[in-house]
Amino acid sequence: MAIYEKLMGNPFVDTGVSAICEWLGPGTQPEEIATEDLEIMINQFAPIYCTSAWTKNLYSIFPNSPVTYRNKDTVAELVSKWSNWREKIEPMSQAGDCLGCGRRVTMEKLLTKTDVPLTGSGSLRNFFPLFSDGQGYCAACALAVQFAPLSLVSSGGKFLMLHSNAWRVQRKWTQICVADIQSRVARNEITGCFNPGYINPRNGLFYMASRLIDYEERRATEDITMQIFYFSNYNQGPELEIFHLPAPVFRFLRYAYQNEFSRAWHQIVRSGYRWVNWDKVESEEDYKNSRNLVYEFLLQGRSILGFFINRPARKVRSNWELLSLYLKEVRNMEESRLNTIKQVGDSIAQSIRKSGRERRLRQLESAGSYGECRNILRFVIRDRIQQGEETPLFSLDDYVEQLFPVSADQATFWRETRDLLVFRIYETLHDWLITSGFADDIDDETEHSTDELQEGN
Ligand SMILES: [Zn+2]
Repeated sequence: MAIYEKLMGNPFVDTGVSAICEWLGPGTQPEEIATEDLEIMINQFAPIYCTSAWTKNLYSIFPNSPVTYRNKDTVAELVSKWSNWREKIEPMSQAGDCLGCGRRVTMEKLLTKTDVPLTGSGSLRNFFPLFSDGQGYCAACALAVQFAPLSLVSSGGKFLMLHSNAWRVQRKWTQICVADIQSRVARNEITGCFNPGYINPRNGLFYMASRLIDYEERRATEDITMQIFYFSNYNQGPELEIFHLPAPVFRFLRYAYQNEFSRAWHQIVRSGYRWVNWDKVESEEDYKNSRNLVYEFLLQGRSILGFFINRPARKVRSNWELLSLYLKEVRNMEESRLNTIKQVGDSIAQSIRKSGRERRLRQLESAGSYGECRNILRFVIRDRIQQGEETPLFSLDDYVEQLFPVSADQATFWRETRDLLVFRIYETLHDWLITSGFADDIDDETEHSTDELQEGN
């Protein structure tokens, strides 16, 4: 019977098991790990963990552990503590009371935050069930947790830890961290947990998501959810924030990072940064930790439609195809609604071009209510009749079901419809608007009015 399995359910244990597998070799599976492998891990890691670079991290992961003592025997002490657990390891059975695996009985000695992050200290007994002195873990899970730091991303003195429903993704995250640590160890350049330089945890999280997508085969239909724990287990101020990256958002990102869209997606993300003086930016380092509203809105489930549109320049960031992918995947918009809006947008663009004036576009851009928006469409219908168009702008069914469907929150619908029409008109007419003198040929991807952001709901 094996010692470990994939995704046993406890984030720290699963992270530790994935770190063990990755260190032993990219093909290693949890079920293959034997106690001899754990002996290798113990002997290789105790000296690495006791270096000053790692100790600095470990104060915030395993406070009061032997690693953090300042004496010469820390390595020996750590090896002895871990080996003691290793000797107690038993294969998994059908059931048990261990909080890590639920498949083995717990050790007699209960564990606290010194061995398992975000568990209480033994003296704060009201943290635990039945006022006990700690929490029960089996020896195998306790040991696995010790290797979890290999798979943590250091971010502003705290750590990002992934827990996914897909073991493959869990492994890729670990692979990114472990590959960096291994290459540094090989160069004798030990720096602690993987640190790509993100103090802003949300930006760090999206950086990791982009790295995960780099690795991913494009099986975009799969539902991959990710929970990212942003924590510190520091004695004086343990903290925890949990981010959810929903499956539809990850699926959309896989499209967005594809070659054909990546440049456009980069522009959209760039437009989401706040408080950046772009004139002074020399490299990514100058803005990568600034607040980014595109990332924040994606995590909060708010629409990022506004960021696809560069209103001052009257042009689009990206194209209808990427925008449709976003609206279908993340916002659950029906294909039929998108098609109708696209068609109506094209007809309005055609009418504007025929008229040689941009008044209808200006009116649509500044429409501030459902009533105003409807009125402008009525004007366009009149324009089209004068221009001798034979087909109507839209049918009554399209109007009721696709353009302005009725819902409890109709405010969102008319704004969304207006923004989509404006997007499509910009996409179709941008060059004409420039040559006709109705738009400036500015290449500023970072302009973004606050008005637009409030409407991003
Ligand atoms: Zn266990």
